[in-house]
Amino acid sequence: MAVNNVFKKSGVEVRVKDLVKIYKYKGGEVQALRGVTATFTPGELTCVMGPSGSGKTTLLNLIGGVDVPTGGEVVVGEVRVHELSFKALDEYRLHYVGFIFQTLNLIPSLTVMENVELPMNIAGVKSKEARKRAKELLRLVGVEGIEDRHPDELSGGEQQRVAIAVALANDPPVILADEPTAELDSVNARNIADLIGRLTKLTGKTVIMATHDPRIAVKADRILRIEDGRIEGEYRPIDVEGWALPSTSPAVRQVSLAEVVKLRLSRVGEEIKELEEKFRRGEVSTDEFHSKLSKLKRLEEAFRELLASLGSE
Ligand code: ADP
Ligand code: MG
Repeated sequence: MAVNNVFKKSGVEVRVKDLVKIYKYKGGEVQALRGVTATFTPGELTCVMGPSGSGKTTLLNLIGGVDVPTGGEVVVGEVRVHELSFKALDEYRLHYVGFIFQTLNLIPSLTVMENVELPMNIAGVKSKEARKRAKELLRLVGVEGIEDRHPDELSGGEQQRVAIAVALANDPPVILADEPTAELDSVNARNIADLIGRLTKLTGKTVIMATHDPRIAVKADRILRIEDGRIEGEYRPIDVEGWALPSTSPAVRQVSLAEVVKLRLSRVGEEIKELEEKFRRGEVSTDEFHSKLSKLKRLEEAFRELLASLGSE
């Protein structure tokens, strides 16, 4: 089968152990991973699912050798990634890992064909061989006849298909996909997730996909739920069917309690003004005015205290 000529390397086991990542910056630090231990198996699509800020990108970056851990181990096949020098990390990334991101996967000034050829050019594959392989990869991801177009002439779904071809170009054993469907409408998102699932089976590679979206996670063989830098549990696709999107996902911003209180406070202020207007126009009696006003003032006071206790500016 043609596929066997395209993919010579199947996956390797990926193991992370007690992985810790602390980002330090001026005036503080963030503990993005708090001791993550997990194994990812060749031929399996594992989804790392968690809300925005839970540590998904950090985990993928450490596995992909894009960043170095503060503590713990990343072992990919025979390679102890956490022990590699920066120079060795460059080699590791080129030959071991294919990346698919949410956006900006493709170089705008290059055609589709050139984008797929580029990683092979860098790895020293002969140009004739690279072209042949790029064609085959584009066929495999379901986009033929767009070789000469530029990325901005493609739909979002087509761009991600090409991005998958780019990720597979050097036949890496490991594919890391960081929210590859986040910019797509739900139909295209599912199609791309399906494609990643099918290619995992076809190639036997070790595929790790981060998403905040349970509707995408159901396409995986296995789901690791990550929350606040820790793996909180392992699930089967059937377990997460019908889960709601996390409230902290980028699409649905969580409104803070302080914001709610501020809103209520401004409404009370408006009600007080209205009441005063009515009183001036003689539409409420003096008794009613005073009783209602004192209630509203107490409410206003209570909201002010609550807001102060929330430490809101
Ligand atoms: P996710 O991909 O799940 O949204 P990330 O791995 O990007 O989560 O981030 C995990 C935590 O680490 C977040 O609190 C985030 O703000 C923080 N973080 C990520 N990258 C950096 C960085 N370069 N510097 C400081 N903090 C960071
Ligand atoms: Mg992320």
